[in-house]
Amino acid sequence: MYSMFSQTISAISTPRGSGGIAVIRISGDEAISIADKFIKAKNGKVMSEIKSNLAFTADIIDDKGDVIDSGIVTIFRSPRSFTGEDTVEISCHGGILVSSQVLARSLECGAVQAGPGEFTRRAFASGKLSLSQAEAIGELISAKSYAALRLARINVDGALKAKTNEIYDEIKSILSAVYAGIDFPDEELSPLTKDEMRQLTAEVLEKLEKLKTSYKTGHAVVEGIKTVICGKPNTGKSTLLNLLCGKQRAIVTDIAGTTRDVITEQVVCGNASLLISDTAGIHNTFDTVEKFGVERSVQEIEDCELIIAVFDSSAPFDEDDEKIISIVKNQKQAGATTIGVMNKADKCANPDTNRLNGIFDKILIISAKEDASYGVMESAISELFSCGMIGENDGATLTSARQYARVCATAERVKEALTALDTAGEDFAGAELEAAMGVLGEVDGRKVGIEIVDEIFEKFCVGK
Ligand code: GDP
Repeated sequence: MYSMFSQTISAISTPRGSGGIAVIRISGDEAISIADKFIKAKNGKVMSEIKSNLAFTADIIDDKGDVIDSGIVTIFRSPRSFTGEDTVEISCHGGILVSSQVLARSLECGAVQAGPGEFTRRAFASGKLSLSQAEAIGELISAKSYAALRLARINVDGALKAKTNEIYDEIKSILSAVYAGIDFPDEELSPLTKDEMRQLTAEVLEKLEKLKTSYKTGHAVVEGIKTVICGKPNTGKSTLLNLLCGKQRAIVTDIAGTTRDVITEQVVCGNASLLISDTAGIHNTFDTVEKFGVERSVQEIEDCELIIAVFDSSAPFDEDDEKIISIVKNQKQAGATTIGVMNKADKCANPDTNRLNGIFDKILIISAKEDASYGVMESAISELFSCGMIGENDGATLTSARQYARVCATAERVKEALTALDTAGEDFAGAELEAAMGVLGEVDGRKVGIEIVDEIFEKFCVGK
């Protein structure tokens, strides 16, 4: 064990496997002296003589002086490096054994193996990145769609950080005015009148509410929408799933941390990402929905955010359809978004959709067999989850439940402050504004507990 940041870390930063090149990164106070022990520059210079940020060719040697590999090395000196610490990056040939041997050599010479996300964590600790920028780097690496990539890029560039900083500073200036008013009530020393304080606090609240709404897009694009496709057998659920998957099938992911681990089919549909849960094989899951006693399937529907219920438009609604409709009705009341799909439109020119009115957020008449129906599904989902909004609100978009929870809590505190100002309870307003700053500071890591930081960086891969 080592204490974080007191030691120099090393890791292979490229994926494990054979490739053209692999990059081994060493970061910390001893990075350059460790590199000196096993890297011999071809020009004969020792590391301390080599300029920063310039690539040079070198041999990487083992403990007997034999060459393990030749490669390109770059030294980044503190603070001008990704981590903010002295960093040495070694590009060697991309064989598994070569890169492992180079890593092993750096460890023999005094570095310790980096933990998941430790380079990024050090960048955060040294103030190179805010917490939301660090999270965005993780999202950039794991992006499954171009929309997710675009959002991550916007936040790596600091859009969310800039927005939270702006709001933070505004709360701070209202707070100082509130406290000045309390300390010197008769001396008119407060830089703001009561009305101005109210007005500015209301504006801050508006900004927070706007930021809160951005999570609808961020969640749909980055985290993904928990989705269930349900309906009685033979309505075309599998056909619809194939239609959605066919365009851009994403990899199957293990989503841990739910009450039970489920395998989720991740389907990128336009800008949105749908997480279609698959506990017993997707086809079976859907079919078991007909057996309403099957607890798991019902739970699946209860847990989801988007229900796509499929009906056969060429046949009248029957008892089984009614059961589906009643489940959907309940879930809509519980907050789920609902799409009613009247499928097999090719077999029925004018299906009667009256039964679905008021229960579904959108009613679509499609033929899942036809490719053109993909666009209909895509635009309906995009509209329901505001997926066309990427880059709005100055680009600042909340992309994680953690950020959203913090912004909601900040808005609550600011709302309380506003009420207190209206009832002349300045002391109380001041305390609420101070609390608001504390919670908002957690979004970007100004004030954040170690457990939250641990949780964020645990999700990163080793080497990042
Ligand atoms: P599931 O049991 O609900 O998953 O239904 P399937 O997707 O297996 O489809 C049942 C049958 O309906 C299959 O024979 C499909 O080819 C057919 N089907 C699905 N969608 C359409 C459609 O849009 N039009 C027509 N005519 N047939 C369809």
